[in-house]
Amino acid sequence: MNTQTVLKCMDCSKDFLVIDQEAKFYADKGLPNPDQCPACRHKIRMALRNERALYKRTCDCCNESMLATYPEDAPYKVYCQKCFWENVG
Ligand SMILES: [Zn+2]
Ligand SMILES: [Zn+2]
Repeated sequence: MNTQTVLKCMDCSKDFLVIDQEAKFYADKGLPNPDQCPACRHKIRMALRNERALYKRTCDCCNESMLATYPEDAPYKVYCQKCFWENVG
């Protein structure tokens, strides 16, 4: 039998359901039930991701320091604006 818990979202005040399976997942991890509905949690996650989206690293072409969307250890070549356009053209 499936039981569900109705919780109120801290952010948008909407009611949302936490199904047994999810509640068990939180309990297993020792986490409290979520304070936000899935939509608000998604928004928060996106906001955090955007904040972390820029890394300080050097251009793989001219070694100028720059901001990139990949960290230094990412397996991608990252070019600064100038080198990017030079390589594209
Ligand atoms: Zn919400
Ligand atoms: Zn460069």
